[in-house]
Amino acid sequence: MIYQRVALIGMGLIASSMALAMREKKVAETIVGCAKSAETKATAIKLNLVNAMFDNPEEAASGADLVVLCTPVSAFKDITKRIVPYLKSGATLSDVGSVKGHVVRQLAPLVPDDVNFLPSHPIAGTEQSGPSSGFATLFDKRWCILTPPEGTDQQAVQRLIRFWESLGSKVEIMDHDHHDVVLAVTSHAPHLIAYTMVGVADHLRRVTNSEVIQYSAAGFRDFTRIAASDPIMWRDVFLSNREATIEILGRFTEELFALQRAIRTGDGEMLQEYFQRTRAIRKGVIEAGQDTGETDFGRHSTRPTSPQ
Ligand code: NAP
Repeated sequence: MIYQRVALIGMGLIASSMALAMREKKVAETIVGCAKSAETKATAIKLNLVNAMFDNPEEAASGADLVVLCTPVSAFKDITKRIVPYLKSGATLSDVGSVKGHVVRQLAPLVPDDVNFLPSHPIAGTEQSGPSSGFATLFDKRWCILTPPEGTDQQAVQRLIRFWESLGSKVEIMDHDHHDVVLAVTSHAPHLIAYTMVGVADHLRRVTNSEVIQYSAAGFRDFTRIAASDPIMWRDVFLSNREATIEILGRFTEELFALQRAIRTGDGEMLQEYFQRTRAIRKGVIEAGQDTGETDFGRHSTRPTSPQ
């Protein structure tokens, strides 16, 4: 056991996967949770994800050794204000939000001195949401980035590292603002591009919707999977990682214009050289064990993992 009592605030894809993995790996003695809707609470109990579900975050967090915020990022501040008076001395308060700078700036001032505030971000996910979408192997061999503020108790950091490692993750410590730039490149901007591409197809009146769906080729089909990701979660990601996303989108636009120019001027050499470089990056992702080289066109993979 790494923690006696763990409280998961929010019970969607990430929290339910954490609960299943914690149970399987016997990481916590007691797991409790809370969610907004009666339906989610009932599902969490039915699936035996937790020992108890509470109606409010205060009750769930009370007496817990580890409290993890697993709701959309926009709810973190209000929840933290509510639970702070109930946090046990020496407890760790963490989160799984996909952005870190904004979370640290909003929450750190609210956390009392005798509580360890240790933000984390498991780089693992799917486009599914809700308590039934979780699975115990979600974090297997996936990175989890911790962004502990300066001066955090090292024993608490080591304990949280062991926690994530027990769930199957590889752990990296990073500065919170650096995290946001890295994730803007690897996840946030690509999601926005997928949303845009699917939006473009939707607006193209020359191609009817049925043609877009019927002749959906590998590229577009992959975009539709990413563009099916949770609207609330992604609204929050862009609103709370504004600066880094806008910076990366600026660079993206420059590259797009360069490629557009190469196409217009018939510069095949430039295009080929560019695509050779991008192919090498794909090879690197596979070699790093972050995807397989299998050609499944998204058809037989029921548990796609995309870094989010
Ligand atoms: P999700 O499946 O949409 O679940 C969100 C959960 O939060 C639901 O159980 C919801 O309850 C609950 N909730 C919302 N507002 C609440 C409140 N005020 N009080 C208590 N519970 C509340 O979300 P998710 O995909 O697990 O994402 C959760 C967090 O993980 C987000 O911050 C996201 O940035 C981060 N993250 C997501 C991924 C991913 O791929 N999905 C990957 C890494 C990190 P109801 O069901 O009752 O509405």
